[in-house]
Amino acid sequence: MRCVFCKKNSENSKSVEHIIPESLGNKEHILGKGVVCDNCNNYFALKIEKIVLDKPYFKGLRHRNFIESKKGVIPRERALIGGDFDIFIDNNNGERSILINNPNTVNKIKNKEVFHMIVPHFTEPTENDKDISRFLGKIAIEVLVHHLYPNQEWIDEITDKPELDSLKDYVRIGNKPNFWEYHQRRIYNEEDRFLNLKISPEPYEVLHEFTLLHTDDFELYLVIAIMGIEYSLNLSNPKIDGYKKWLIKNDYQTPLYDSNERKIISDIKKGWQDGDSLRFFQNY
Ligand SMILES: [Zn+2]
Repeated sequence: MRCVFCKKNSENSKSVEHIIPESLGNKEHILGKGVVCDNCNNYFALKIEKIVLDKPYFKGLRHRNFIESKKGVIPRERALIGGDFDIFIDNNNGERSILINNPNTVNKIKNKEVFHMIVPHFTEPTENDKDISRFLGKIAIEVLVHHLYPNQEWIDEITDKPELDSLKDYVRIGNKPNFWEYHQRRIYNEEDRFLNLKISPEPYEVLHEFTLLHTDDFELYLVIAIMGIEYSLNLSNPKIDGYKKWLIKNDYQTPLYDSNERKIISDIKKGWQDGDSLRFFQNY
């Protein structure tokens, strides 16, 4: 058995590969041991996924939506009250709290010298971000494998296909090309719920969903939505023009779902609301 990315022998590899990180709530889309070797798996976890997940937008997203990390912890969000603080969420009851270590700040709050707490809110991920583009490239190769999994002959073909080498090298090393383009847009709100009676009588939340799109120009795209943001990346070359063309031709519909079957329900609220309470702790 060989790793689909570096092509080295991966018989002894022990880790399974999460196509989308566990810390974004993925428990189902997994590739078995050795499809991605331990070396590549570790590298992706530390040098790509961790970097993306620690970006302010993704940290805030996980905090607001109570998405637990691999270790079962909901990420903290940074807040400012005369200095900066972390906001914690209790996994059990969703209650938020902050810990204040500086007695001066507590006195300022008590004396009503500070009235406001500022919670920076990053509603969109940064555009043209190389870490995100490598993250999407990794997902793209793995979604392609997942499509054919567990047929080993097909996986071998993806491993050896020279057309995929430049994307794999971009993900593994990141030097060539300097930037692999991707397309990003919001297709629904983070707090939206969906109703599709073919799936469930109850509204449900979609953390992520993905598909592969073949265009008329024989290009292959990964299209993935994570909490309402759709990202697209070309597996064939580092240009995104073909997807933009496809969008124009298809009236800017997303290739991800059939809107005739699935309705968006937007009135369910989540995250920070006016009047939410926050507990303060003093730690001295
Ligand atoms: Zn490898």
